[in-house]
Amino acid sequence: MSGEHRHPEYIWWNGERRPWDDCTIHVTELGWSTVGAVFEGIRAYAGDNADELYIFRFREHLERLERSMRLVRLTLEYGLEELTAATVDLLRVNEVREDTYIRPLAYARETSGKRFAQIANDAALLINTSPMASHLKTGLTQTAKVSSWRRISEDVMPPRVKNISNYRNSQLAGMEARLDGYDTAILLNHQGKVSEGPGACVMLVLGDQVITPDVGSGILESITRDALLKLCREVLGLKVVERAVDRTELYLADEVFTCGTAAEVTPIVNIDKYAVGNGEIGPVTRALEGAFDDVLRGRDARYGHWRTPVEVGAAAVA
Ligand SMILES: *Cc1c(COP(=O)(O)O)cnc(C)c1O
Repeated sequence: MSGEHRHPEYIWWNGERRPWDDCTIHVTELGWSTVGAVFEGIRAYAGDNADELYIFRFREHLERLERSMRLVRLTLEYGLEELTAATVDLLRVNEVREDTYIRPLAYARETSGKRFAQIANDAALLINTSPMASHLKTGLTQTAKVSSWRRISEDVMPPRVKNISNYRNSQLAGMEARLDGYDTAILLNHQGKVSEGPGACVMLVLGDQVITPDVGSGILESITRDALLKLCREVLGLKVVERAVDRTELYLADEVFTCGTAAEVTPIVNIDKYAVGNGEIGPVTRALEGAFDDVLRGRDARYGHWRTPVEVGAAAVA
């Protein structure tokens, strides 16, 4: 567990906790193997005390995994309670005490090359964890470019779930943005309305309103987005509006940020060379980062139901 590419000792794979080195598949599986796969991205956050770790909205992530699998006709053979227990166990045996990313991945078990011919597939399922530090409150900002790629739409791919194949679209937009000198992309949908970033939703602040593309805008149904909209309303006392958003609204907003499990809250300070507000992190974004951090790290008791505590201090049972 040292060096740049630290890996955990164990992975959960097809119903069992197994040592890292035993979790291999054959090289000929490369290629089409993940075309039908779906995944989840989940974070666990260290609390203020060394033995506290909290998984954020774990139930909601597992329920979305279930929906993603259902949509691509993969059968989930485990109960959500079982997956919760397996993940908590994994974090404990891996002695995780830092901010961590948890990634369940479900893919077709069949390896005979009949992946396109089959209709319903038995799913293989793996859950792995890797350290991922939070960037909340670090002052990180990004610049963005409205992509020339359009966001995938319902008539082509299912944008609302975490379907691996969707991410070629994200990748093309992200690469274009970086090659053009921006940090990230914002994609429009086929109606020309704002959809989202390559792996994160988008929110705008205008006066006392927080505006975000509605779920009909081709966005992924983000759990962070849902949480932040509640925090904006309940903690910051702002108005929250979910609706179709025009491109030019991005350029005229007081503040813009992206959000998601990986993105957390990421302030966007410049879009297509228009400074957003005064080009610095705005007051609402800053307040939201603080409120969100309090929720994630167990300081805000009002949102305890969003946290699955893992007692990492307790001796792990190997
Ligand atoms: C995962 C993801 C998000 C954020 O969803 P969360 O549930 O908040 O993690 C947004 N957009 C895309 C394309 C994603 O893959």
